[in-house]
Amino acid sequence: MPNARAGSLVLFGITGDLAKKLLLPALYALERSGELDEPIVGVARSDWDDAALRKRTEEAVGEASGEVDGVVLARLCNRLSYVRGDYADSATFATLKERLGEAAHRAVYYLATPPPVFTTVAEALARAGLNQRSRLVVEKPFGHDLTSARALDAALCCSFDTDKILRVDHFLGKDALAALFALRFANLLFEPIWNAEHVASVQITFAERLDVADRGGFYDSVGALRDVVQNHLFQVLAHAAMEPPDTAAPRAMEAERTRLFSAVRPLARSDLVRGQYAGYRQVDGVKDESTTETYLALRLEIDNDRWRGVPFAIRTGKCLPADLLEVAIALKPAAGVAGLEGPGGQIRLCLEPEGRWRLDYLAKTRGPGMAVVPLHVQGALEASGPLRPAYQVILGDALSGSAAHFPSQASIEQCWRIVDGVLDLDDAPIEYQPGSWGPPEADALAEGGWLAPGLGERGARVAP
Ligand code: NDP
Repeated sequence: MPNARAGSLVLFGITGDLAKKLLLPALYALERSGELDEPIVGVARSDWDDAALRKRTEEAVGEASGEVDGVVLARLCNRLSYVRGDYADSATFATLKERLGEAAHRAVYYLATPPPVFTTVAEALARAGLNQRSRLVVEKPFGHDLTSARALDAALCCSFDTDKILRVDHFLGKDALAALFALRFANLLFEPIWNAEHVASVQITFAERLDVADRGGFYDSVGALRDVVQNHLFQVLAHAAMEPPDTAAPRAMEAERTRLFSAVRPLARSDLVRGQYAGYRQVDGVKDESTTETYLALRLEIDNDRWRGVPFAIRTGKCLPADLLEVAIALKPAAGVAGLEGPGGQIRLCLEPEGRWRLDYLAKTRGPGMAVVPLHVQGALEASGPLRPAYQVILGDALSGSAAHFPSQASIEQCWRIVDGVLDLDDAPIEYQPGSWGPPEADALAEGGWLAPGLGERGARVAP
């Protein structure tokens, strides 16, 4: 990845949902932190002009950012302009080239568009001669299975050199994932016990209270496995389980993530429990007989020296009782000293919403005898500093030319390899009630049952 600062940012899909909810607010955050220095051009079909784009930006930033600094917002709006056009029309790219002048040749071209037009845009940029020194950023999903991910890469590589293509998984831009990695490897307390000798099981929970809202049509063609597991939650798994890289080079982390994925055994049907919340089929855009899962629990095994034999479990779902992203490590009980027996400790890493960790341990009760009871300590996952939305990190890296927070083609292919045998299952998912923790059948996939999420109480083994 050439580490040169971009001369401009071009956002294909600027009128879309992702731009409104996440990209425009992230650009505001970059402007506020002084990390933005280039003109930004949005390209889409809607009948907008520069003023309409600026109005949308003000709305989007207002909705996302609570307190808005008017001076910062005005500075951002002054960078923005709009090119109207279809991506299938070469005139769109001629206008863009003219608008940006020399900066069109050192641009970041960000594809926040539906996947079917990823290659249309890449080819048009190449035909317009804009592919030599520019970077191409491609939103998710990168393919819908292993074969299509390889085909997409091959197609994009016809238009852009492979080291100029950045594939987005915005979970890699979450500071909490880096904080999890740092907690593991910066503290002698954790690293020596982070292995099969001491860990009984690992659980990852990503819960959302929201239903599929107005995105039924999109979600129904995707489901939980493709939407968040194969990409986002595998990245969480990587940070919880990977080896430390040999060097601090940005791609060294990615090489270790890829090595970790390579050691995960492919999933079989019996490793999964799929659920669908009651009422999902009545959502606009969802098929009457839809078998798409809105809940997924799975178990997996990592076949390497650190983890062989340790059960890992991942669960996620819509309409669950909480919004959280958590990694829970159940430790094996300490080797028995007479009178001091008790359950193994737990390390709970609540990445979202709190960014906190908690260690449950056994302590002696005061007085005679040696009875031990569980107590806990907890603390912040990160030292104080400004909160950065994940897309601020992603866009900032794309502009500065760092590949640190982008998955490589190799790791994307490994992630598809793991799930390739269990995509597109057409058996009916198990119905669960909104507000529950999903189908009780999923309990069997987590060794000993799922730990109650959240840092409030010791994670008792609970039925969902
Ligand atoms: P939308 O359908 O909301 O927006 C699509 C955008 O692409 C619009 O700006 C649309 O322009 C433009 N577009 C599509 N086809 C053409 C064309 N032929 N010519 C010109 N413009 C075109 O999609 P999203 O914003 O939801 O998603 C965009 C990408 O981001 C997808 O890859 C998605 O998977 C990914 N993503 C989305 C998330 C989200 O929360 N929305 C979350 C994470 C990733 P116009 O409407 O003006 O015609």
